[in-house]
Amino acid sequence: MHGFVIRGTRGTLPTCGPDFFRYGGDTTCFSLETSQGLLVIDAGTGLRHVTQELADRSDLPPITVLLTHLHMDHLVGLPSFGPLYSSHAQIRFMADSNREDDWQQALLAFIRKPYWPVGLTDADATLEFGSLSPPGEPMEIYGVRVGWCAIPHPQQCVAYRLDWSGGSVVIATDVEFEASRIPVHFIQFCQGASHLIFDAHFTPSEIGHYAGWGHSTWETGVALAQASGVGELLLTHHRPTRYDTDIDAIVEAARKVFPQTRGASTNIALP
Ligand SMILES: [Zn+2]
Ligand SMILES: [Zn+2]
Repeated sequence: MHGFVIRGTRGTLPTCGPDFFRYGGDTTCFSLETSQGLLVIDAGTGLRHVTQELADRSDLPPITVLLTHLHMDHLVGLPSFGPLYSSHAQIRFMADSNREDDWQQALLAFIRKPYWPVGLTDADATLEFGSLSPPGEPMEIYGVRVGWCAIPHPQQCVAYRLDWSGGSVVIATDVEFEASRIPVHFIQFCQGASHLIFDAHFTPSEIGHYAGWGHSTWETGVALAQASGVGELLLTHHRPTRYDTDIDAIVEAARKVFPQTRGASTNIALP
């Protein structure tokens, strides 16, 4: 599973059924494995695919879980993450220390009785909690250059940029920008990335009803992709009511402006 893989693309709630088959129903999760370790970005239900693949392996790589924020659709896969229950696993969680909440306490409160039969503190794995580097100072994790940038979303969120020998991917999910008012510093953050994975939860006709909900549209995605010169735009955080055919229509509209656009779908590898 070396390389970058999209594990979950759905926003808010997982979905299932034939109408969701092509883009997938799992909520947000991404993975990037190198010869040195496994990076996981967010722990939505898509994390189950990582658990499945690791279950077939005799060796467990060191694992770092980078969290964008703590909304449930980005965490709900974590309690059933297989390596938590392996004494051979080393798992480090990282998030923005500038958050207004205590994110480590929030994780401990999320995974404990009566919500789950085992508390995070009872996990068999060796756990570690770490803070992201100061803004603008990328970290080096498992041979991957990891940058991050705070983005507007209720209860705060961050975007990540991963640069490694195989490509450069920006993950900007759960972010509310207007297409005509994307901050220059964020355009620079995305500049020249091979792939931009961007929040297109709402359509342009819906967004007027949902100002302040913390999500964007494909129009903002293509504006950002054009301004920052990325190689490909992948629209993600698909609204749970969105059938595959609805997402097809969104992608088709976006392609008229930025042809290198597709809809993010579960278990596709980049590049
Ligand atoms: Zn979300
Ligand atoms: Zn959110």
